[in-house]
Amino acid sequence: MSCEHLVCAQCAHPVIEGRCPLCRANRERMHNHGFAGLSPALVAVLLLVLLFATLVLRHLVGA
Ligand SMILES: [Zn+2]
Repeated sequence: MSCEHLVCAQCAHPVIEGRCPLCRANRERMHNHGFAGLSPALVAVLLLVLLFATLVLRHLVGA
């Protein structure tokens, strides 16, 4: 989820511009959470696990 299209309830400007403390807080929170509330590092680990599982399954099927 991106904050680019969100409008701040306090200053009525796009949150991405960070014009007030609420904007900056929301922008920080959303950017730090990464994809679907997961941290970018966790997403990377999940992708590696998925890739590894796919390789193992292909090996098992081919054997
Ligand atoms: Zn604001």
